[in-house]
Amino acid sequence: MRGAGLLLALALVACGADHAGPAAPASGRVLILGLDGTRSEGIELAQAPHLDALRAEGFTDLDAIAGDVSLSGPGWASMLSGVWCDRHKVVDNDVSWANSNFDAYPHFLARAEQARPALRTASVVHWAPINDEILCADERADDCGGVDAVITRDSDAGVRDAVVDLLRDGDPDAVFVQFDDIDHAGHGTAPSSPPGGFCPKPSGAVDGNCLLRGLNAEYLAEIERIDGYIGDILAALRARPRYALENWLILVSPDHGGGGLVFNQHGFDVAQDRRTFLIVAGPAARPLPGTPVTRLADLPPAENNGLPPADTRGAKLVDIAATALFHLGIPIDPDWQLAGQPLGVAGAPDYEERAIPSCYSAAPFTP
Ligand SMILES: [Zn+2]
Repeated sequence: MRGAGLLLALALVACGADHAGPAAPASGRVLILGLDGTRSEGIELAQAPHLDALRAEGFTDLDAIAGDVSLSGPGWASMLSGVWCDRHKVVDNDVSWANSNFDAYPHFLARAEQARPALRTASVVHWAPINDEILCADERADDCGGVDAVITRDSDAGVRDAVVDLLRDGDPDAVFVQFDDIDHAGHGTAPSSPPGGFCPKPSGAVDGNCLLRGLNAEYLAEIERIDGYIGDILAALRARPRYALENWLILVSPDHGGGGLVFNQHGFDVAQDRRTFLIVAGPAARPLPGTPVTRLADLPPAENNGLPPADTRGAKLVDIAATALFHLGIPIDPDWQLAGQPLGVAGAPDYEERAIPSCYSAAPFTP
């Protein structure tokens, strides 16, 4: 009996160690939930219990930052390649795909597959260019960098269903998920009605042109609907038979904000369009480095709310690829020239601030 009791005690110690600090496994699995066009104020004001739960069990930077061309093309390209627009060369949503440089700076799932082909990887998106132009671009067009499941759906519900199926029936190590409908609500395009608006704050707040427009209830409602989809995905994740041993790191981030200069658009080099958030949750999550990037309440009114050049500390969009690779246990090769660094995860090295290059003058867009 004493022997059995000792074994039980050791088992309990080991089990506890999984969730508390240095004894956490050196590598684990990664789930990234990308929420297109979601402002930090949105996840704060919406009734979003599943995002709230992730924030409660992990860490959140509500003042993370995207590059100065705050569009989806460069945003997802930066998040997934771990380099900024100066290297991947995407500066809009259409024309610049032809000049992209994903052979030199591939999607992190392609990096992961190259390092460890046995990994099971998946990209499940609503906005097709993520798979068509970033993951499966150029020389990887035939095999999408070896990524095992490349799935594009024409609705966020379809994305949710595909991810739930993958987590229930498959055995993925790394999954990237992108929802698009929150951005649609910001723009006022289907399924929302015009005029839209990315402004989740009531009038009176310093909030770009949203000062005049006030709250877009449909934008918040869309965040709440997608929060429900996130709940479905997390339920499937936690129902996995070996979930407790799999050491999932869950990252949640948008590609950009919106509403800074034009209430229902984004793309500009202003705080409200560039401000993003990063949630890191799971047993390996650790406090994020740095200090807030953009404090909206401290900024002057809309005519002059670009980011102060020095005020770029904290989580950056490019850190997500580096963090995912790090948590998968893949050594980051300096030759990859990643602009991002691992952060918010057990064992991550000290965070070193790096400048964010500007591509604004090269962008041909009119949002
Ligand atoms: Zn958009």
